Amino acid sequence: MSQTGREIQLAARPHGEPTPDDFRLVEVEVPDPQDGQVLVRNLLMSVDPYMRGRMNDVPSYVPPFKLDKALAGAAVGEVIASRADGVEEGALVVHDRGWREYAVLDARYAHRIDRSIAPPSAFLGVLGSTGLTAYAGLLDVAGLREGDVVFVSGAAGAVGSVAGQIAKLRGHTVIGSAGSPEKVALLRDQLGFDAAFDYHDGRVSKLLRAAAPDGIDVYFDNVGGEHLEAAIGSLRRYGRIALCGAISSYNATEPPAGPRNMHMAIGKRLTMRGFIVFDHHDRRPDFEREVGSWLREGRLHAPETIVEGGIEQAPQAFIDLLRGTNTGKMLVRLQS
Ligand code: NDP
Repeated sequence: MSQTGREIQLAARPHGEPTPDDFRLVEVEVPDPQDGQVLVRNLLMSVDPYMRGRMNDVPSYVPPFKLDKALAGAAVGEVIASRADGVEEGALVVHDRGWREYAVLDARYAHRIDRSIAPPSAFLGVLGSTGLTAYAGLLDVAGLREGDVVFVSGAAGAVGSVAGQIAKLRGHTVIGSAGSPEKVALLRDQLGFDAAFDYHDGRVSKLLRAAAPDGIDVYFDNVGGEHLEAAIGSLRRYGRIALCGAISSYNATEPPAGPRNMHMAIGKRLTMRGFIVFDHHDRRPDFEREVGSWLREGRLHAPETIVEGGIEQAPQAFIDLLRGTNTGKMLVRLQS
């Protein structure tokens, strides 16, 4: 017997910063699962910066969201009806049908999680794509080497907080930048960063030079723009940049002005490499072993900001994520 549930649809393509009017809360029929499918009651959903790009009607590495259709993204939920072998009712699963209270999907796209390893939220953050992005970006894309001094931007965010801690736990000197004094204090006092600064306190190039007077070897870039320019200026010879994200430009209506110092990459023999986490799933076993054990031992922290209040809060949570109200992974609790 089918039931209804609520979902968030894209009502309009945002121009610049998204507004609540770009989203619509709709009650829809939830179909019964067919053979091979499961019905999932979503408990938590992720809001992620990449979703801003999918709201534009432009070609990218993932197709744009469709107008007047439900948005999508990572979620964790409980299977409440199953017509698939091997997935029983009550199982907790991670899947990509977030932004809705109930999801019907093929069981092969529902990945079972084990609550005894970590709380469900961790599978959307530190043990999910977020953590893998940090791990693969540092180790494989930036090619972290012994003795490297590492700079991470967006360091109090989901990916950045894990990237900085991984570098630290592997014995590196780590510098982070973030957008508030509270976030800077978290980096220094709880996450073990050697130095951290608030990028609102002056020019990023000056702040970075003060934090790393002898320069840096690796830059894990979550931000782009002025941060990237500053990092190019501070990188030493044979320095490496992992281009993970460019959040400073996601809401921009004009292309960013910089970095203006790309010529320095020549003399310094820099390597700059973009990457997408989808291409690094082969790293998952190593990642789960290494990051999972740090997490169990309490050596790696997984800050998260969980917005309560149900699915109606999801659009504002997404808007706030882009404004930086989150510390660590930003999630919305849909149901408990
Ligand atoms: P975060 O948890 O880091 O949230 C976004 C953060 O961005 C905010 O908290 C805010 O923190 C910061 N921010 C917003 N505007 C600016 C600005 N103008 N300048 C500097 N910082 C800003 O999100 P994620 O960890 O999920 O994502 C971080 C980055 O990684 C994003 O660029 C994202 O697109 C990218 N990413 C890339 C992946 C890949 O496969 N390449 C996979 C996952 C994420 P603050 O208060 O510090 O400003």
